[in-house]
Amino acid sequence: MGTSLLGLDDEELSTCVGCGLCLPHCPTYRVTGEEGLSPRGRIDAMRAVEWRGAPIDDAFVHFIDTCVQCRGCEPACPSGVPYGHLAEATMQTLAARHQVTPRWQRLAFRGLGHHRLLLLGSTLLAAAQRLGLVPRRAGLSRLPLRRGRLPAATAAEPDVWLYTGCVMDAWLRPTHRATATVIAATGATLRPTPTSGGCCGALHVHAGLAPAARRLAARTIASIPGDAPILVNSAGCGAALKDYGHLLGTAEAERFAARVLDVHEWLAARADRLPPPRRHLGPVIVQDPCHLRHVQRAEQPVRTVLGRYADVVELADDGLCCGAGGAYSVFQPELAGAVRERKVAAIEVASQRSGAALVASANPGCAMHLTAAGVDVRHPMDLVAEAIA
Ligand code: SF4
Ligand code: SF4
Repeated sequence: MGTSLLGLDDEELSTCVGCGLCLPHCPTYRVTGEEGLSPRGRIDAMRAVEWRGAPIDDAFVHFIDTCVQCRGCEPACPSGVPYGHLAEATMQTLAARHQVTPRWQRLAFRGLGHHRLLLLGSTLLAAAQRLGLVPRRAGLSRLPLRRGRLPAATAAEPDVWLYTGCVMDAWLRPTHRATATVIAATGATLRPTPTSGGCCGALHVHAGLAPAARRLAARTIASIPGDAPILVNSAGCGAALKDYGHLLGTAEAERFAARVLDVHEWLAARADRLPPPRRHLGPVIVQDPCHLRHVQRAEQPVRTVLGRYADVVELADDGLCCGAGGAYSVFQPELAGAVRERKVAAIEVASQRSGAALVASANPGCAMHLTAAGVDVRHPMDLVAEAIA
C-alpha cells in the first residue's frame, strides 16, 4: 500500500469485499447502471488512487462528486464499510485541491454561518420568486416572505433545547413553532437555540469544507450550554450534530453529541404523554430522509409519533434516496431529478394503494426537493401539531 493521497484510513478502505449487495441501494447506480457511480465502484476508485498510484483525474472527481452521500449503502453492507467516512475524507482532499466545490459554492456556504444575512438573502430570494426572476430549474419550492416569530422560551434552564439551525429557520420557521407546540404538549419546558449558533456545518462537511465545518461546530457547541437534550427537527442537521465527536475529536464534542436527539426519538419515548388526537389525519405516506434512516437509524420513532394521529402508509422502495442530498439537488440537478423520479413513482403507487394525498418528511431538503416536483409534503411535526390543536 502506497502513500495516502486521499487521507483515508487503510483499515476502513480494506473492509469492502466487493460483494455488490449495496448496489441496489445506491440511487446513482440505480439511475445510471454505471459501476463507477456505485459504492463498490467509488471504493475501487479510491483504492486505485490510494494503493495503485492512479491519478486524481476528472473521472475520479466525477465518481466522487456525483455521490449523494445518502449512505444508503451502509446498512446494506454486510462488511460494515464506513462509506460516509471514506466519502467525507475524499471530498475533503478534493476540496483542498480545489477539484470540487467551486468558489461560488464556497461563498454560498459561507453565508449560512451569518444568520441575519441568510434571513435577508432568503427574503430577497422569496421576493424574486414572486417576480418570476428565479428559474424553475433552480428546484426551489416557494420560500416565505414572512416567517413569523421563533417559539418563545418557556424556561431559562429548559428541560430541552429546540435546535433552530440556519436554512430550517429561514425557510421553515412555522415547523419550529409546530415542534414547540408538540414538545410543550408533553409538559416539558423548552428553549430555542440561539441564532448565534446558526449553521451546524452539515453542508460544509458534505462539500469537503471540514475546517469551516469545525469552526461552525465549535460555535454551535458554545451556544448551547448545560446538559439538557438538544432536539432537532431536521434529519440532516441531527446527523451532523450527532457526529461532532468524530468531526472535532474532543471529549467536549462527544459529550455535546450525546445530548442530540431527533425530536421524534425524544417524543416516541414519551408517547404516553402526548395528547389524544382532536382530529385524525387519515392516511399519510412516510418518506424516510436518508440521514434519519441510514445515518441516525431513527426512522421508527417518526412512525410511533405520527401513528398516534394518522394511518402511516409505507413506501415500497426500501428507503431509497429522493435525490435531495443537502445541496446536491442544486449542484447535480440532472442526477437529482432522475433519482427523484423513482421516489415520486413510489409515492404515486403508495397513494393509489392507500388513498393518501399527503407525504410526511422530517427533513427540509427532502421536503423542498419533492415539493418542487408537485408532491404535497409536510413535516411530521406540522401534522401532529394540527392533529392536537
Ligand atoms: S452514499 Fe448513496 S449515492 Fe453515495 S455510494 Fe452510497 S448509496 Fe450511492
Ligand atoms: S461496500 Fe459493502 S456491500 Fe458494497 S460491495 Fe463493498 S462489501 Fe459489498
